[in-house]
Amino acid sequence: MRLVLPPRVSEQTFQKALQAFAGVVGKQWVLATDEDRETFMDYYAAGDADLHVPSAAIGPQSVEELQAIVRLANQYKIPLWPISRGKNLGYGAAAPCLSGTVVLDLGRMNRILDVNERYGYCLIEPGVGFFDLFQYLQANKIKLWMSIPANAWGSVVGNALERGYGYTPYGENTRNICGLEVVLPNGDLVRTGNGAMSHSASWQLFKYGFGPSWDQLFCQSNFGVCTKMGLWLMPEPEATLGLNIQLPNPDDVGWAIDELAPLRMKGVIEQSPSIGNSLRFVASATQRSQWYQGDGALPDDVLLEILKKNNLGWWTINLRLYGYDEVNEVHARVIKDAFKKHMKQEIETVKWHRGEPIENSGAGVPATTALQIINWRGGRGGHIGFSPVLPPTSEHVLKQFHSTKKRYEEIGVDYYGSFTLFERYTTNVNMMVYDRDDAAMTQKVRALFKVLIADAAKEGYSEYRTHISYMDDVALTFDFNHHALLRLNETVKDALDPNGILAPGKQGVWPRALRTEGGRLGSAHEDH
Ligand SMILES: Cc1cc2nc3c(=O)[nH]c(=O)nc-3n(C[C@H](O)[C@H](O)[C@H](O)COP(=O)(O)OP(=O)(O)OC[C@H]3O[C@@H](n4cnc5c(N)ncnc54)[C@H](O)[C@@H]3O)c2cc1C
Repeated sequence: MRLVLPPRVSEQTFQKALQAFAGVVGKQWVLATDEDRETFMDYYAAGDADLHVPSAAIGPQSVEELQAIVRLANQYKIPLWPISRGKNLGYGAAAPCLSGTVVLDLGRMNRILDVNERYGYCLIEPGVGFFDLFQYLQANKIKLWMSIPANAWGSVVGNALERGYGYTPYGENTRNICGLEVVLPNGDLVRTGNGAMSHSASWQLFKYGFGPSWDQLFCQSNFGVCTKMGLWLMPEPEATLGLNIQLPNPDDVGWAIDELAPLRMKGVIEQSPSIGNSLRFVASATQRSQWYQGDGALPDDVLLEILKKNNLGWWTINLRLYGYDEVNEVHARVIKDAFKKHMKQEIETVKWHRGEPIENSGAGVPATTALQIINWRGGRGGHIGFSPVLPPTSEHVLKQFHSTKKRYEEIGVDYYGSFTLFERYTTNVNMMVYDRDDAAMTQKVRALFKVLIADAAKEGYSEYRTHISYMDDVALTFDFNHHALLRLNETVKDALDPNGILAPGKQGVWPRALRTEGGRLGSAHEDH
């Protein structure tokens, strides 16, 4: 991939900056060949990878090296895009928002600094992957469980900072953050919460500290680079009880949400069950051409035939109860009674007790098999995730489901979506799986994405996270008082990062130097 320079930086200055970076991290950790740049692109992009071209990547190994790089970046006005492992697949992978940005790859800072079984937490560096932490806990027989995303290739820190989630009672990873260490855009180093006190006895125990609480300000943000994260882990329960539920009809997702939401809020169900269309299982194991050769989205009757052959309902729910056996039994009965009102099918029950293999327990066990779904359409596969947040009721869920499915059908993409039920909301992750070699298809997907954002915004649904190409579009839907939130974010950004070097454009927040008058987010700067 050819070199794209950062805005307002000459080739000569850029080369000088790279030399200066090499003086800090060593030549071999400044990656600036065409092949290197290719490695840090969005390799799932729907045809628009060229909009987000990194100019180079740097791999520091310590906080001190990182601070030195950030200071040099200020001197040379080089934008930096931090990644922990860069596996943000479906949302941009390792690529930066702004072409010409240098990727700050923190994969070499990968120490597990502390795991405390008594208090249930770990303190880790950004490069620690889900597999690394899992293996560490297993090897040291530590009875703490992790919450792991369906594709576990990435980092614990990157996922929590992006508000990613897994499926145990500790599912919302961002909620488990307790204390960060952060390099600010000027190179200063801070610790949040009680970590601000040297030798604090409770950095990973008490989230709030004294005064304003900063952990969430560094999530989905471009205000700092996280170098250490405290994260609460779940104590291993005595037992678990799984309920594997098949819902036969498309509209069953409505009543299922209505039945489950109050149980989730009351704590009868403590984890966040995902109600996903069962095509995902077929798509992970086979290719579409094995089932259907025609154009357009998979017709409903063909889909039903496929599901029948695979013994699957339209939707599948894998729900888990965690804790004491007797309590799980009672809660399972309450859930089964709720489902009996609507369907005759038996619900499969799976039990696990401490000491049995962890793979069958409902603990977070890392896997990458979910990635196979991108082969569904053939060619060089890719996917993009459209992920709005809705109130957990049938009214909202059915409206959103039907409107999205119809939109998919209009452009000939197969519907692939899930509703994950949290205490007071549901996220609706819609994957659009495509063949990257089919230019017509990827072009349609890109156009559809903007339509989906607009459709959702009309209903009052925001996205919990988005792809780097649509961060401005989503930020603009947060429009109360002529985008007052964006103005607040920009005020903080300009105060912390006057040279605008850290992740310009992330979540639609641009530094002053790159906010051209009436530019990308011009409408947010109209009179207010
Ligand atoms: C099939 C499939 C299934 C998936 N299922 C799930 C799922 O169930 N749940 C889920 O949450 N995700 C899911 N994902 C999305 C994604 O794979 C994961 O969220 C993944 O953990 C993110 O990659 P990462 O941890 O390497 O993040 P990175 O790419 O390292 O980071 C993501 C972003 O966070 C910011 N960032 C990262 N590190 C830092 C830092 N140290 N300081 C400041 N900012 C930083 C940057 O903006 C970066 O772009 C899925 C993806 C696929 C393909």
